[in-house]
Amino acid sequence: MDSIEQLTRACVRKLKPYSSARGEHAGQQGILLDANENPFENGYNRYPDPLQKAVKAKLSAIKGVPASQMFLGNGSDEAIDLLFRGFCEPRIDKVLICPPTYGMYEVSAGINDVELIRVPLLADFSVNLEAVLEVLQRDRPKLTFICSPNNPTANLIDEETIASSAEASSGLVVVDEAYIDFAPEGTVVPLLAQYPNLVVLQTLSKAWGLAGIRLGIALANEAVIAVFNKIKPPYNVNLLTQQVALKALDDRIGTEERVQTLIQERMQLADWLEKQHFVRKVWPSDANFLLVEFDDPHHFYHGLSDRGILIRDRSSVVPGCLRISIGTPEENAALVIALRELEISNEK
Ligand SMILES: *Cc1c(COP(=O)(O)O)cnc(C)c1O
Repeated sequence: MDSIEQLTRACVRKLKPYSSARGEHAGQQGILLDANENPFENGYNRYPDPLQKAVKAKLSAIKGVPASQMFLGNGSDEAIDLLFRGFCEPRIDKVLICPPTYGMYEVSAGINDVELIRVPLLADFSVNLEAVLEVLQRDRPKLTFICSPNNPTANLIDEETIASSAEASSGLVVVDEAYIDFAPEGTVVPLLAQYPNLVVLQTLSKAWGLAGIRLGIALANEAVIAVFNKIKPPYNVNLLTQQVALKALDDRIGTEERVQTLIQERMQLADWLEKQHFVRKVWPSDANFLLVEFDDPHHFYHGLSDRGILIRDRSSVVPGCLRISIGTPEENAALVIALRELEISNEK
């Protein structure tokens, strides 16, 4: 691989970052007349910690990764965008994705005017490693996105594929582990020690149940983290988010119980769906959703929607397929009842 310095855009290398008042005097007590804040205390009148040190300390203990190898953003979507802005020269650099996959990589590439190279997943939704290695060598993409477990196909990508890609890439290999808490054995975080060009994205949006607060995590080599910190908006994670995260991260046991409930529910729903004659295939899932191929996806999609049950139509990216997020036991039971009704109406 090239050094992180070489991979960084020239304008970012040269950049003198904005220096915020709270950044220069982090955690200092006393009379704070340095940030043009309003002095009257209401709990929110001060700017938040720009480096979120308290939240990182807790996450560091949970993830087993030092805070110095951690970036926190306004959702992992912010980390994805910063990867483009930090490392990809518009109209010059290229980025590799393996569709069908998460839509934000393509959107961020479009916003940043960066060319995408697509290496489709194989029929079983594993990565086409041979084709990926060829592109890595020929086109030297700055970023390679691998989503594991992948959205919308729900499967983990195996570690050897990711390791071989990181080994062969001159750029960064970004593994999006948004759903990894539903299959923690599949994480590639241990590979960070071996591959300085590996970036692992995680989030509090899924297993931690905090999509509303917007807190994404990037784990990487310190040199990559330094680029993130150089170009991020100074106060990118607001005070309310940091406070809610600090509290939520103390409830590891409750979170783990809810994750186990969702996995149980997923297995039950998958078993039931597999027995239905209107279902062609339930794809194996390592996440909190199921990708299901129907004989007549639109009948079921619209019928559920008419009954107030929203699922995701993925038939444009995976023929015949709908994506179903796992709900509470009550919600999943309501889904089953609605699908039974729709099965009958389809036969009429
Ligand atoms: C849901 C999801 C995310 C989460 O994004 P946030 O901005 O952290 O909410 C990231 N990647 C994938 C593949 C997802 O499905």
